[in-house]
This record gives sequence, structure tokens and C-alpha cells, in this order.
Amino acid sequence: MYGLATDLELAGFVGNDSIGVFVEVEGATTAVEAFARRLVAEAPPASLIDEVASTVLEPIGSYDFVILTSQPGSSTTLVSPDLDICDDCLAEMNDPQNRRHRYPFINCTNCGPRFSIIAETPYDRSSTTMAEFAMCTMCEAEYSDPFDRRFHAQPNACPTCGPEVWLVRDGAVVEGDSIAATRSIIASGGTVAIKGLGGFHLACDARSPAAVRQLRDRKGRAAKPFAVMAADLATAREIATVDETSADVLTSQAHPIVVMSARPASPLADAVAPGNKTIGVMLPYTPLHHLLMESGDVWVMTSGNRSSEPIVIENDSAADRLGELSDAQLLHNRSIQRPVDDSVVRSYGGGVSPIRRSRGFAPYPMRLGFESRPALAVGGELKATLAIAARSQAFMSQHIGDMENVETLDTFATTANDLSRLFRIDPEVLVCDRHPRYLSREWAYANADGRTVIEVQHHHAHIASLLAEHRRNEPVIGFAFDGTGYGLDGTIWGGEVLVGRLNGFERAGHLAAFELPGGDAAVARPYRTALSLLRRFGVPWDIGLPAVAAAGTTERGVLAHQIESGLNTVLTSSVGRLFDGVSSLAGVCQTVSYEGQAAIELEAIADFSMPGAPYEFAVVDVDGTLVVDPTPVVTAVARETLAGAAPGAISASFHRGLANAVRDVAVAVRDSTGISVAGLSGGVFQNAVLVELTVDALTAAGFDVLTHRYVPANDGGLALGQIALAAHIA
Ligand code: ZN
Ligand code: ZN
Ligand code: FE
Repeated sequence: MYGLATDLELAGFVGNDSIGVFVEVEGATTAVEAFARRLVAEAPPASLIDEVASTVLEPIGSYDFVILTSQPGSSTTLVSPDLDICDDCLAEMNDPQNRRHRYPFINCTNCGPRFSIIAETPYDRSSTTMAEFAMCTMCEAEYSDPFDRRFHAQPNACPTCGPEVWLVRDGAVVEGDSIAATRSIIASGGTVAIKGLGGFHLACDARSPAAVRQLRDRKGRAAKPFAVMAADLATAREIATVDETSADVLTSQAHPIVVMSARPASPLADAVAPGNKTIGVMLPYTPLHHLLMESGDVWVMTSGNRSSEPIVIENDSAADRLGELSDAQLLHNRSIQRPVDDSVVRSYGGGVSPIRRSRGFAPYPMRLGFESRPALAVGGELKATLAIAARSQAFMSQHIGDMENVETLDTFATTANDLSRLFRIDPEVLVCDRHPRYLSREWAYANADGRTVIEVQHHHAHIASLLAEHRRNEPVIGFAFDGTGYGLDGTIWGGEVLVGRLNGFERAGHLAAFELPGGDAAVARPYRTALSLLRRFGVPWDIGLPAVAAAGTTERGVLAHQIESGLNTVLTSSVGRLFDGVSSLAGVCQTVSYEGQAAIELEAIADFSMPGAPYEFAVVDVDGTLVVDPTPVVTAVARETLAGAAPGAISASFHRGLANAVRDVAVAVRDSTGISVAGLSGGVFQNAVLVELTVDALTAAGFDVLTHRYVPANDGGLALGQIALAAHIA
């Protein structure tokens, strides 16, 4: 603004307030008009223009243009997410004549760390982890020059005055070129813990089966896919099918991990993403990454933590917690204020949808279509995120992790306070899930301190998150399909058809409930769910079925007893569990080592080139509720498996059948209610095959279909829905 106003010889001032940026300019009419036009046309790449409003004022005789100092106060100041290195900085870093040649912390106002280094707002250097580095005279000159690319670039630094990197091996600093040493450890099959923007990564050569296998062993991560970093777009194209949309997202300012179809002849080790036909790829986003990687390199870049613990951000804990997971640690002395994991989006059908919204996205504000009291939503249990809201804005936290250990709970509590402090919002209400055993709910009550705690139903929150991100509040036919959510009747829901809006809902339909023998044991061993489905829907346990064989005689006896007596079983209408069961029945996956594995592998093998009609679910009206009965589907899967049908064909018929069932239920609900908007939410709808088929079926039947574009369909999006519900439920 300063540069533009000065260029046009305009007087006035610019500043920040709770709404955003305000500017007053005074001068020749043509110059003022040019200012308004160029403000938008020449906006810096890192700016987010939501709206421009202007009014004509009487001239007051200003003679210069000034930048007003931001006042710390009660207003909400926006905080920028971390940004990938810009082309200008990259060019300078690669220029031997430049004073920042090969400097790993080069940045400018268009790029670099933000959210991961801010301790307090307003965003000034003294409120960041860069405060301890005093700028040298050259950096200071850039920082103070309104016409410099580094004017007010808070993390501005250079080799003379800024942070530095070093490599530690066996507890000792390695002398010499730490970048070259890191490369050589990775090239020889080792793993290096690399301190990045929002935390540590564990990096190894993704082409080396031995290296990847060793990393899995050390991390205690059996099969969950690893994401990789490819040195550049050309390298990414060797391992994945990168369409135009994916390429745009890969190179966007957020630089997320993009999950794409893996190339059949990919040179990557099988252990990178076993059982998957997709691969999560990201491109280098920090100067350090660019220094480390050379064209053709593909490295596993997984969060630096032991499985299920939060990502490590401190040098000290890197030695403790990552020492035995890595052969060396590449450290630096720019502190990370808070963990910010890599974001993940999935690419399909020419579009993308978020799976994990974190680095590069958090904490952008979400403009709400309603007014919210100051509120804090604590989300669910897995893939936890928080949201804080006031007035017409909500801020979603970065990804926190699965709430299953003390470390994650600590991060969760810190994040709640962090959001409140950064955005100066003092929550008057807390919103949580109804599930009596969620740690997030427990935390909400323990920290309520006299404030109201509002409990909302899990699947209602999923549908509400969809409505909130589309800024709609009208009745929808919401399909909330996921693994687990606490139902109003105390059973586990997860195949729900909820008709309603933000102030309430009616359970218009659901998948027919079945027993989950042993609860969590069934989740870990999908064949248990398969046997339960067979028993419940009247199909004999034929020993020729892979699911039956997987159980073994003794376990089958126990299972039969459990299912018949209801002992240690829970009832569920979960579509996620139905996927598990079908995956097991078709012989695809009998035991899992990460959430959703059986469903992911079933999706991966779906082969639509094979003959096979869609399976037909029976939709029955039971006292006004539409019950989706999978009996014919379970029967068909068992029959075809016994007849030796290809699992890929079974998977395709199952996916198509489920999409048709959604359409049929939607049509029936539309007939009785007149509602023609359908929404898809819940973790099951991360399944791109299912989403495409379902959207096609619904669209062909004349529905306006809402899917997630902003927050994840999985429980990572719940907190936004909770905020929306709390604002509408008295
Ligand atoms: Zn830059
Ligand atoms: Zn300097
Ligand atoms: Fe859920």
C-alpha cells in the first residue's frame, strides 16, 4: 500500500484493525482511481483479498503517506499461514553473486515462515522466534525500505545475522558441509531427522526398499503410507499421475502433500505405500529443502515422531525422541513456536479435497455465514483439530493428531490456549462431541470453569461443517458416513442420513445396524466384522471364505457366542465398518495396522473394466425411517468370492451399489420433504471412487450436491461444524 501510494504521489495513511486493512488516500482523482484498481491488480502474492470496500471522503489536506503502528488490543488480528519459498528468493539463493547464496533461511514478504514462528500478535519481529536474531545493517536497510521486497519481512535474515544449520551424528556436530553430509547419509540408505518449518521430518531415500523398511521398523509404523517429497515437478511425474489441478496445488503457496494415482511403473520402494494405488507427494517448500534435494531425488518425508505422538519441534527433544529413529539430525536455531504438520489434499476427478488442513492453510480465517458468540470447539478424537470463533469468523487449528496419549492431549490444551491468545477470543462457550469417552469432551468439561459446554451429535457436526464451509443454512439431505460416532440412542452411528439444518436434524435413515464383536478388536481385525455381517444378515460361515478362514476355529466359537449373546459387542450402523467387512469378505484385507486401511485397500483395487452389475441394497421403511439393508450385498459378496470372482470386480460392484443406495435414499427423502440439496460428509467420503460415483448418481437425479472443499470430510473438520451448531442451538 505504501509503495503504491508513494508511486502515485498520494497522501494518507494505512493501518490494521479488527476487520482487516484500512487505507485513506488523498490526491488527484485519476491517481486515487488508479490506486483502487492497482491495489487489487498488483496485490502481493501472499495477500488474501476477501473484499474491497471504499467510500469517497472530503479531502483533509494530508501531505504525506504514513503507516500507522498496529496497536495490541482486543481486536482480532489475522495471522498468515507459512508460505513456500518464492521464485525471487529461490533465484537469489541459487545466485553465487548474491549475499544469500545457499542460505537456508532466505525469505521475503512474499514467502517464508509465519504461523510457525509467531508467539504473539500483532505480527512484529519481536513477537516471533526471530526476536533473538538482531538484524545486520544490510538486513535492517532492506527491512526499513518501503520499496524493498523485504520491507517489514519479520523473519528477514542473512548468513551474517540469521539462523544456521548443523548436522549432529552420534551426539556430535559433524564438521564441514552439513547439506552434503545429509545427502550422503540418505544416499547410502540412512535416515536423517530434518528440522523443517513446523517440525521435524524423518527423511530417507524412497527408492531404497531397505531404507524405507528400516524407517518403518524404527518408527513402529507397519503399513500406513508414507508421504514423499519429490525434488521437482518433473520428478513427481515419474512417480505419480500429475494432472493440471494437482500440479497447481503442488506448486501453490501452501505446498501441501497431494495424494495422486501412483504410476504403475513407479521406481519407489513398495514399502512406501503398501496396498495403495495412490501416493502422497509434495514438493520442496523451504529453502533448506531446495538445498538438500537434487532433481530426480524422491525422499520419504514423514513426521518426526514415534507413531501417534505429536511431531517433534525442539532440538532437545529431537535428540531424545528422534535419536534412535534416525542416523543423524539436521538441526537449526530458528525455534518453532508450535507444531504445524504438512497438509494433505486428495486429487480426483479434476478437483481436490482436503484430508488434513494444516501447514499453509492454518490459521486462515473461515468467514461464517452467521454470527457466533466467542466459542471454542474441541473437535472429536481422531485427527483432532480445534476451532475458535467470534462474530463472523472462525479459525481452525492446525492438525493436532489422534487423542490417544498424554503428549497429544498436551498439544491439544496448548493449541486451545494458543488460538485464544493469538486471536484475542475469550470463549464464552465450549462445544464438544456427545461421546462420553472422548478425551476432547473430558477436557472441555475439565476446563469449562463455569462456562457453558454444549454437546453436539457427531454426524450432525459433520453435516454442519459442510453447510458452514458452503455458508449455507438450509435443509439438506445429509449423508454422514464414517467409522465411528456416538449416536443419540447410545449405539455407534456411522451410516447416517440426517435431514436438517444448523438448528436441528432428524435421522431420516441409516444403514441397518449390526454387531461389532469386541468393539475395537473388530476394528483392528476386519474379519470379525465380516463374520458379524454374515451372521446378522443370514449368510453361512463358509470356510471357503477368506474372512472365515482368517478367524480360526477357536476365535469363531468365541465370536459366535459374542454375537449371539451380545456380550462385549456394540451395535453399529457404520458404513466404515461395512467397508471393513466387505474388504475382508472379498479377501482384500483381514487385519489392519492403521485406521481405514481395509477400506483404502478395497478402494484401491476397484476395477471398473470388469463385468459386474452394481450390488443392490434393500431400502426399507421402518416406521418412517429408511433403513438401508445390506443383506443382498453381503450375500452377493460371499457368493461371488466363493465362486472365485476377482476382488477388483467385487469392489467395483460394491462402490457402485453404495452410490446407487445413496441416490435412492435421497430420492425417497426428496419425495417426502421436497428438499433437493444433498451433502456428503464423514471420513468414508475421503474415498474418491465413492465420492465420484455418488456425486454423479445424485447429480443425474437432479440434486444439488455439496462436498468438502475447505475442511476435511473426516473428523478433522468436525470442530467447524461444532461451531456452527453451537451458534444455532440455544
Ligand atoms: Zn521470497
Ligand atoms: Zn543480515
Ligand atoms: Fe466422524
